[in-house]
Amino acid sequence: MSPAPPLDSRMRFIVVGGSVAGLCAAYTLRQSGHDVVVLDKRDERVQTRAGIRVPPNMTRLLETLPGMKTLLREYGTECEGMTFLEGETSQIIGRMVFLDEAMADLGCNFYMVPYDILLKQLLHLCRQIGVQLKFRTEIASVTVAFGQRPSVVSVWGERFEGDVLIGADGRDSIVRDTLTQQMEDSDDENDDTDLLAEREHSAGVSEIVVASYSINTSQFRDNPELQKLVDSDEYMVWPGSHVLVLGHKCGPELYIVTVTRVTGATPTDIDSEWNPRAPFPRNTDALVAEFEPRVKSLLKLASHCHQTIQRIPAVRRITHAPTSMVLIGDAAHTITIGATHNSSIAVEDGFALGRIFSHLTERDQIPYLLHGYREVRFGRSMSTEASELGAFIVVTFPPGPARDARNEQLAYSLINPDDMPDELLAMTWATYLVQFNYDANEAVDEWWLMGKFNMPHRNTNGNGHTNGHSAHSSEYE
Ligand SMILES: Cc1cc2nc3c(=O)[nH]c(=O)nc-3n(C[C@H](O)[C@H](O)[C@H](O)COP(=O)(O)OP(=O)(O)OC[C@H]3O[C@@H](n4cnc5c(N)ncnc54)[C@H](O)[C@@H]3O)c2cc1C
Repeated sequence: MSPAPPLDSRMRFIVVGGSVAGLCAAYTLRQSGHDVVVLDKRDERVQTRAGIRVPPNMTRLLETLPGMKTLLREYGTECEGMTFLEGETSQIIGRMVFLDEAMADLGCNFYMVPYDILLKQLLHLCRQIGVQLKFRTEIASVTVAFGQRPSVVSVWGERFEGDVLIGADGRDSIVRDTLTQQMEDSDDENDDTDLLAEREHSAGVSEIVVASYSINTSQFRDNPELQKLVDSDEYMVWPGSHVLVLGHKCGPELYIVTVTRVTGATPTDIDSEWNPRAPFPRNTDALVAEFEPRVKSLLKLASHCHQTIQRIPAVRRITHAPTSMVLIGDAAHTITIGATHNSSIAVEDGFALGRIFSHLTERDQIPYLLHGYREVRFGRSMSTEASELGAFIVVTFPPGPARDARNEQLAYSLINPDDMPDELLAMTWATYLVQFNYDANEAVDEWWLMGKFNMPHRNTNGNGHTNGHSAHSSEYE
């Protein structure tokens, strides 16, 4: 991290949403000396017993925070690999073993960790360094205007103003609504949608429905077949026809099962908040009717279930420099909740934003740094969204030639890695390694290496004008 900026260059950041993305951004921004206020509509104490996946690209960042290494090791489960089981027959069709050698090269492990435990530590760290945290503060409106400081107003009428507004408010982001509106109004030609080639990235998907079930592992004691699942530290993948079931341990007490489909929500689907009293979705039993008996038994043992509906926005934009707004995490992209990378990309966003704004010394530089954030993050998050959706489509092919071809490919992974030719081993690992090896801080540093020469800054002759390559920050607005 760069040294904290001098006091007179301190900016005030308003973060709407104090979950994974918001808290990582808040912590890293505060570390750089800025004032940060986090506003969240929920209670401070997270009562959800659910779990998230922490792949190596997320571990790498989290482990830079005090206490996180120990937390992941003590409260999480270190994932040893993935086993693919034909959903209907439970026949093993593929296996990805996270080889010690590959993980050692990556320098970070893959964990599954209870969400509430991770959040508690992030909150503790934020509080320790002076981030202002305000819970039960639901934001009802956002006010922005060109060249003005953005502000938000809570349902109680409290107003918060800052130099930069960060939308970390999840899949139904109110900040995203305002940002999209501003973009449409300004008819911006420098539009990130150019990169998206007509929704190609989303594989034609517009809605993702995920039901996430939490089961206490003590429930498995009387069922030897289920107990085998808990005895394993592997991530179980049951591909079905257009439906995917995933199961994994999450620390010693929790087993998580998610049932995902991307074929659109039905009128009976519930989009629930993450709370322990959320109603169980009614139609999941039908979705798993064709699955092996263990899957059905798992759902019956669940104590909680949270079903979320993610809608892929038609317009994609993550920053609006003229009004100093930026989106991070699920507000910025639609990476399948309950899959491998929903939280990892949110954490990367938070860290990247903090690192970019560690270079801020003057208010005029905000548009330029937002432009930098967009350059670093947009491609990364959209390509991850596309690869997660694409993988989902392939893995849930219905019976037929496409599924047979997929199974043929997966079968290569069943060859013992020691007996596998190097090229095949490299091919099997390639996609995973590219994702896992990504370092969000390094990506920012690479951008900064070239980007700093273009950053507007005050003229040393004291006339108050900006100089540098771009005499005016308006170039980035
Ligand atoms: C309590 C909770 C538990 C979760 N548990 C899991 C889990 O077990 N497994 C999993 O895969 N994913 C879980 N998620 C979702 C997961 O955190 C995200 O998919 C991912 O980590 C991206 O995080 P995010 O910070 O971008 O968004 P989110 O985690 O969705 O956080 C958005 C935050 O914004 C707040 N918010 C939304 N609108 C407003 C508003 N108008 N005013 C103020 N605040 C607002 C919400 O209360 C929430 O805290 C959970 C989310 C929450 C909030």
